[in-house]
Amino acid sequence: MINDLWFAGKRHSKVSVARNCGVFMIVYLKVAIVFCTETGCRQLMKTKKQVIVIGGGAAGMIAAIAAGRRGAEVTILERNPRVGKKILATGNGRCNFSNIFADYSHYYGHNPKFIKRILVNFTVDDTISFFEKLGIEHKVEDAGKVFPMSDQASSILDVLRYELKETGITVISEAYVKNITRKKAGFTIELANGQACRGERVIIAAGGKAMPASGSDGNGFDLAARLGHTVTSIFPALVQLMLEGSFFKRIDGVKFVGTAEIIHNNKSLAKDKGDILFANYGVSGPPVLQLSRKAGELLNQGQEAYLKITIMDMMSEEEVRKLIRKRFQLNPHKPVDFSFVGLINKRLIPVILAEAGISDLKRPVVALSAQEQDRITRILTDWRFKIRGTKSWASAQVTAGGVNTREINENTMESKLVKGLFFAGEILDIDGQCGGFNLQWAWSSGFIAGQNAAL
Ligand SMILES: Cc1cc2nc3c(=O)[nH]c(=O)nc-3n(C[C@H](O)[C@H](O)[C@H](O)COP(=O)(O)OP(=O)(O)OC[C@H]3O[C@@H](n4cnc5c(N)ncnc54)[C@H](O)[C@@H]3O)c2cc1C
Repeated sequence: MINDLWFAGKRHSKVSVARNCGVFMIVYLKVAIVFCTETGCRQLMKTKKQVIVIGGGAAGMIAAIAAGRRGAEVTILERNPRVGKKILATGNGRCNFSNIFADYSHYYGHNPKFIKRILVNFTVDDTISFFEKLGIEHKVEDAGKVFPMSDQASSILDVLRYELKETGITVISEAYVKNITRKKAGFTIELANGQACRGERVIIAAGGKAMPASGSDGNGFDLAARLGHTVTSIFPALVQLMLEGSFFKRIDGVKFVGTAEIIHNNKSLAKDKGDILFANYGVSGPPVLQLSRKAGELLNQGQEAYLKITIMDMMSEEEVRKLIRKRFQLNPHKPVDFSFVGLINKRLIPVILAEAGISDLKRPVVALSAQEQDRITRILTDWRFKIRGTKSWASAQVTAGGVNTREINENTMESKLVKGLFFAGEILDIDGQCGGFNLQWAWSSGFIAGQNAAL
C-alpha cells in the first residue's frame, strides 16, 4: 500500500512539472526524484511500518498511539462495535488509571521483576503527563490512587479515541481476529468474517479473561499459543471469595471496617484492612479483592485456604475479652443478644452467638460461662472460614497468569520466539494489586510495545 501511494505521487510530480517549468526544471526534478527514490523515499518505505494491533482496550489503544506517533501505519482490530468497553467499567465508573506508588512490588506473576524495566521506560509520571497532554487533569486519592478530575472513566476513553483519530490510526470494529500466521515478511491476520489482512508487525493486546462480556474472553491466549508461546495457568483475581457456611444469606449486605487474612497451614500469608462486606456467597470488599490473588493461587494448586476475619481489629483479643466482661458486669441481666447492640452490627449478633454455640439468645449475660464468653471473643477477633473458591471470571477484575514473560523481551515487549510479534497488557503473566496498578501496566507495556513495533 505504501508502495502504490509513493509511485502515484512520483508520476503526478513529473507530469505537472513538464507542463509548467520546461526542460531544465524536468532535468532538475528528475535528479531530485532519483535522489528521493534511491535514498529518502526508500528510507521512508523502510521505516514506515504497518502495525496491526489486536484489541482496542487500554493497552491496544496506547500501543497504537505510540506506534502512530513514531510514523507507523497503524490499524486496530477490535471485536466489539467500539473500542475501550472495559475502561468504562473501571474504578466504579471513575477510572483509577494509575497509582503513584506503582513499582514491581505491587505486581504478581511468575516473573514479576519483568515489569521493572517497563515501568522505568514508561513511568507513572509519563502516564500522567501523557493524559495531561490529552486533556485529563488528575487527582491523587488514598493509597496513591490516581483518578481523572472529572471522575468519569468515559473522559479517559474520549481522549484516547480523539488521539487515535488525531494520530491517523485506523480502527476497524467488529473485527474478531481468529488466527495469526507468521509469513516470510510479516503476518497474515484472519478475521472471523472470513476477511484477512497483512501487517509487518503485530501487537497482541487482546486482554485476559476477566469480565468476558467486555470482549476479553481468553481467546488471546489461544492466538499466542498457536504462535508458539506458552501460557501459564490462569485464574480470576481481584474477585470476591466464596466461603463455607450456611448463614451467609442472613448477613448478606452487612458491612464493617475490619481486617481479613489468608491462612494456609495455620500461617497468615497475606493481610489487608478496610471495608468488608458479607454477601450471600461469602465475602467481598477491597481487602478481600486484594487478598483473592493469594487465595486463588492456593486453590489453583489444589491446596486448602482459609479466610480469617477480625471484626474488632482495633483491639487485642485480651482487650476485647475485658470489654465484653465489663459490659456484662454493667448489665448482668440483659439478654445476651441485646448486650452486643452498640458494639457490633446488629445483624451479625445472632449469627455470631450461634457460631459460639449459644442457642438461647435471651439468656441473661450473667448466665454465660467463661468458655462461652471466650468463644464469642474468639469469633470477634479471629473468625475463620474455609474458602470454597473465588467468584467466576464475570466478577473478576483481572486475570492472574497469562503469556509467559520469559518469552518476551523486557525492553521492547517483542516476542523472543516470533520476530515482529509484540504483546501488551493483561494478556501477559503480570497482574497488579487493586488501586490503579493494572491500568498502569496496560499503559506502560502498551506504550513500549507500540514504540518498538514502529521501528
Ligand atoms: C470491573 C473492572 C474494574 C476495573 N477497575 C480498574 C481500575 O480502576 N484501575 C485499574 O488499574 N484496573 C482496573 N481494572 C483492570 C483493568 O481494566 C484491566 O487490567 C485493563 O483494562 C486491561 O487492559 P488490556 O488492554 O490489556 O485488556 P482489555 O481492556 O481487556 O482489552 C482487550 C480488548 O481486546 C479485544 N479483543 C479480545 N480478543 C479479540 C480478538 N480476537 N479480536 C479482536 N479484538 C479482541 C476485546 O474486545 C477488548 O476490547 C478493572 C477491571 C474490571 C473488569
